[in-house]
Amino acid sequence: MGDDMKVFIIGGGASGLVCAIKSKTSNNEVTILERNNKCGKKILMTGNGHCNYFNEDFTTSHYHSSNLDILGKIINDENKKEILSFFDSIGIVPKIQNNYYYPITNQAITIQESLVREAKRVGVNIINDVLVSKITYKDKYYIETNKGIYESDIVVLASGSKAAPKTGSDGIGYEISSSFNHHILKPLPSLVQLKGSEHYLKEWQGIRTDAKLSLVIDNKVVKEEVGEIQLTDYGISGIVTYQLSSIAIRALKEHQVWININFLPWIDDIKAYLDERDKKLDLNISELLDGILNYKLSNLILKKNKINYEKKYHELSDIEKNNLIRDLTSFRFVVQGYNDFDSAQVCSGGIPLKEININTMESLYQTNLYIIGELLDVDGECGGYNLGFAWLTGILASLDIRSKHD
Ligand SMILES: Cc1cc2nc3c(=O)[nH]c(=O)nc-3n(C[C@H](O)[C@H](O)[C@H](O)COP(=O)(O)OP(=O)(O)OC[C@H]3O[C@@H](n4cnc5c(N)ncnc54)[C@H](O)[C@@H]3O)c2cc1C
Repeated sequence: MGDDMKVFIIGGGASGLVCAIKSKTSNNEVTILERNNKCGKKILMTGNGHCNYFNEDFTTSHYHSSNLDILGKIINDENKKEILSFFDSIGIVPKIQNNYYYPITNQAITIQESLVREAKRVGVNIINDVLVSKITYKDKYYIETNKGIYESDIVVLASGSKAAPKTGSDGIGYEISSSFNHHILKPLPSLVQLKGSEHYLKEWQGIRTDAKLSLVIDNKVVKEEVGEIQLTDYGISGIVTYQLSSIAIRALKEHQVWININFLPWIDDIKAYLDERDKKLDLNISELLDGILNYKLSNLILKKNKINYEKKYHELSDIEKNNLIRDLTSFRFVVQGYNDFDSAQVCSGGIPLKEININTMESLYQTNLYIIGELLDVDGECGGYNLGFAWLTGILASLDIRSKHD
C-alpha cells in the first residue's frame, strides 16, 4: 500500500482517539467517524469525572477474557512504557494514588481535551455526528453512514461495547465484526450492581459500610474483595461489588452464585469478641451491636433471626448465637440478577482474542480490518485497567497501520 492511504476509524472514544493520533503520518489520511457531537464523551464520565486512566500494576491478573493466555502476550512492561510515554508526549502529568493514575488536574476533561487537541494537531480528520451503520468490502471498504458512504483502505473498529449506551456505544461493532465472520462471545454487563430478591432489601437500602465480600460459585469461594459496600433496595453496589460482577454474572446462567458478606472484617475471632464485649458492657444485644455495626443492619440481622432485642448476648441460645455470628460475618446474599447495560461501566464478552493478531489487532479473517478496545473479549477490574486496554490496543493497531506504508 502506498501514498495517500485512507484509514477510517469507527468511533472517537478512548481506543479510537489514540489509534488515530498514532496512525497519522505524512502520507496517509486518517479520519475518525464519531456519532456524538464530540469525541471521548465516555472518557468524561470515567473515574467519577476524574478519569482513572491507568494502573501501575499492569498485569493480566486484573483482567477477564476467554483467552487470558493470548492477552498475556501484550500486557507487559514494554507496552506499559509505550502507554505512559504516549500520555507524557501529549502533555499529561499523572497523579498516582495507590497505583491508580489520574491526571494531575483531577479532571477527566484534561484527558479528553488533550486527546482531541492532539488528534487535530497531527492532522486527523474528525467527523462528528455521523452514525456508521454497515461496512462492506470489495477491493476497498465501503462505510455506510447517515451522511453517505465513505471509502477506505483500512478500517479500525473502535466503536466500543454495549455498556453505557448513552455515551454512544450501542454495540454496532459486534454486528459489523460478525459480517466479517467474527464470532461474538455474548456481551454481558460488567462492573455493575448485583441484584437479589430477598424481602429484607427494602430494610437495608441506603446503608454504606465496610465489608469483606466472598464470591461463592457452587459452594467454592472464587474471589474476595474488601472495601465499602452500598446496600440498595435491589441488592448490592459499590466498587467491591463491581470487582466481583464480571465473574458472578458469567456464572449465573449455569451455576449457583452467592456472596458471603462479612460485615465485621476487622474482627478476627468474632465469638471471643462478642463474649468479651458482653462481659465488659451491661448492654442488651441490640445495644451491644449498635456500637460496632450500622444500627439498621443490626436490627435487620436480629429480626431475620427472630432474636429478642432485649436479651443480653450471654442469654441467647447456642442456635441464636450461631445464627447471629453467621449473619454478621457470612451473610449470604444470593445473586439473582444484575443491572443492565445502562448502569454497567464495561461489558464482558465480545470478539475473541484468538480471532485477531494480538500483536497488531488486525482481524485474522479480514485484511486491513482492525478491532480495538472494549469490542474485544477483555474486561478489566476497576482501577484504570479498561482504559489501559483501550489505549494499548489503539497503540498496537496504529503501529501496524504505520508499518504498512513506511
Ligand atoms: C461511568 C463509567 C466510568 C468508567 N470509569 C473508568 C475508569 O475510571 N477507568 C477505566 O479504566 N475505565 C473506566 N470506564 C471504562 C472505559 O471508559 C471504557 O472501557 C473505554 O472507554 C472503552 O474504550 P473504547 O474506545 O473501546 O469505547 P468507547 O470509549 O465507548 O468509545 C466508542 C466510541 O464509538 C462511538 N460509536 C459507537 N457506535 C458508533 C457508530 N455506529 N457510528 C459512529 N460512532 C460510533 C461512540 O460514540 C464512542 O465515542 C468507565 C466507564 C463508564 C461507563
